[in-house]
Amino acid sequence: MSILHISLRGSKDMKIESINTYVVDAGWRPWQFTEIKTDSGITGYGEMSDGRNPWGIVGTVEDFKPLLIGKDPLNIQALFWDLQRMAIQSKGGIASKAVAGIELALWDIKGKHHGVPVYDLFGGKLRDKQKIYWSHCGTSRARDYEILGVDPLNSRQDVINLGKEVADKGYTSLKTNIIVRPDSPLSHPPKETYVFFGGFGGGAGSTDQGLEYTTDKQTFINYELLDVIEDHISALQEGSQGKVTIGLDLNFNFKPQAVKKICNRLEKYNMMWVEIDMYEPDGLREITDSTDIPITSGENLLGVTDYRPYFDKRSMDVAMIDIPWQGFINSKEVASLAASHQINVAPHNYYSHLSTMISLNLCANIPNVRIMEIDIDDVPWKDEMIGGPLDIKNGVVDIPTGPGWGVDIDTSIFEKHAWQKGKGPGYLSLPK
Ligand SMILES: [Mg+2]
Repeated sequence: MSILHISLRGSKDMKIESINTYVVDAGWRPWQFTEIKTDSGITGYGEMSDGRNPWGIVGTVEDFKPLLIGKDPLNIQALFWDLQRMAIQSKGGIASKAVAGIELALWDIKGKHHGVPVYDLFGGKLRDKQKIYWSHCGTSRARDYEILGVDPLNSRQDVINLGKEVADKGYTSLKTNIIVRPDSPLSHPPKETYVFFGGFGGGAGSTDQGLEYTTDKQTFINYELLDVIEDHISALQEGSQGKVTIGLDLNFNFKPQAVKKICNRLEKYNMMWVEIDMYEPDGLREITDSTDIPITSGENLLGVTDYRPYFDKRSMDVAMIDIPWQGFINSKEVASLAASHQINVAPHNYYSHLSTMISLNLCANIPNVRIMEIDIDDVPWKDEMIGGPLDIKNGVVDIPTGPGWGVDIDTSIFEKHAWQKGKGPGYLSLPK
């Protein structure tokens, strides 16, 4: 009999001892993290941030604990599929994010155990640097300028100045949202700058009916919004002197007819893309067929089953991939499926620097990454949680080289900035 014994259950020496979660206040949204401790002394961290359902997600991690405590953390596929089976009647959504937070912490443990970055566990890296774009550019200032320690965004000149700042800091791409300033025809008392998110509820002001003419100033859905959008994009372009390509994220705010009108208005600008989320591949294809502006979508899709009909119908030019919402295994598979359809991907990363490190590990490991998202304006503890700011030069950041995700997490920052129950969701940005 062979003296060699290879266990299919992985290392017989390491066990998961405990799993903790954190809900952290990140200004206009909460971040959620998993922390998995092992009996070997290695601790892994994962991110599963969601702006609207933080307590549902950490509660679901609590539900998963009995499947994990005492198990070998290195046997990730088996644990991942155990969790998928347990959540099979709750496909996607909160369950997917909870599974992702756990899976990502397990990869961190495995990388640290072997002393290599996570991308090395998948065959190594294809690049040493990654181009990024300044996301929620202006959006974060409109929401939380006091926390960010910047000037408010109250005039067209303020937006022009922001565009100049982006170019001066060396970024070559930015992404913004629909920002309604006090000098806009759609401004209402108390005349404060707000971010238009009519597709996310909030009563009057939803865009469920699309764009309409109206003289009723209590109805925020009208063609004046096209003027607001064009003024915002043109101001950013003017300030950045054409050196910066501009993405506009429309999120879930519009149906195809309205998106086509918006794209038509923006054709003459230096657009990186227009981004629209939509659970309808034929509707999205209508938009993509109607414009020369690249259409980006997919941040809310989870796994190849969700993405496949969109890729088959060529509904999007660039596929957003959210790793904290679907995990590394699914994200790798989606990137491969996208590559097989000649589609590039862009990690969805408006989260903490842990997610930034996780996303950079994916970028390093796939051939078809278009560009990566990052929020430059953010709460100061985003840098503090990893011991200091990232080294970003000319809109490019280095691929991490440390074990696991390549970053040490200071959880005392999480405790210091805990998200208070009842504060969220963080997107109630329609005028009061
Ligand atoms: Mg988006």
